[in-house]
Amino acid sequence: MARSVLIANLGARRATAGRLAALVDVFRSHGELLEVCTSGSPEEARAMAAAAVATDAPRVWVAGGDGSIHSVLPALTHASTALGVIPWGTGNILARELGIPLNWRRAVRALLRGTVRTLDAGRANGRVFCLFAGVGFDAEVVRNVSPQLKKISGRTAFIASVCVTTGRWKPFHVKLTLDGEVCDQWAWLVVVANTSAYTGVVNLPDRVRPDDGVLDTVIVRAAPKSRIIWHTAAYALLRRRLAEASRHRAREVRVETDPPVCVQVDGELCEWTPLSVAVDAGALRVVVPASGE
Ligand SMILES: [Mg+2]
Repeated sequence: MARSVLIANLGARRATAGRLAALVDVFRSHGELLEVCTSGSPEEARAMAAAAVATDAPRVWVAGGDGSIHSVLPALTHASTALGVIPWGTGNILARELGIPLNWRRAVRALLRGTVRTLDAGRANGRVFCLFAGVGFDAEVVRNVSPQLKKISGRTAFIASVCVTTGRWKPFHVKLTLDGEVCDQWAWLVVVANTSAYTGVVNLPDRVRPDDGVLDTVIVRAAPKSRIIWHTAAYALLRRRLAEASRHRAREVRVETDPPVCVQVDGELCEWTPLSVAVDAGALRVVVPASGE
């Protein structure tokens, strides 16, 4: 039987060569022998995952952040190989969504005793995602993050970018086509979400589920800036969900804006509107902790 494969992104925030050796030791101590690969780029990680799928590897473990996971998704959709997430990133949003411990040693132990769950994926202008496609404010925050500061200080870089972006950002007009139904309004932010976990601090409304065959489009409507700042701070401090945002469920979503605004997909800056998003139901197999862990 083919071995599972571990793809480690040594560029990830919590990655070091010493930590990789320790990670392999933890797997080995549980009797799990792996093919170990280190990736230097998203393309390389994707090719490694594709090679693992081609050999029917039971698992592709990815030690990295949500960007590392995002890069291997095209290889893993509709494959029997399951994705195992080792949270080495800054936000670790997918790990949070799946209830995976954020301490990587505990994560490995929990996942080796875990089970496999089937999730939906989404496609945003053809690009596979597992978390969300964000249009407007959040993509602009990603665009304004300093890579150097992100590597050094993690979330502080995002907080700094939120502050800078909030000062500059202006609402935009959006025309949404949701399974053929059109609505238009002024918005601060539109998120087409597969998961409820969003930034790790603020989450999307309840009942956004990654396994119901539907994407949830969450709209934060245009409002006075002071009000948006106040609500965002309150949600962040209280770790609540964005209950005041409106939510629409659809399998296909078209987002057109005036003016064009930038788009992030799984936290990776991708392109500009217009954006076409569709659900790919049941496309991904992921390892999750056993219930009750
Ligand atoms: Mg869903």
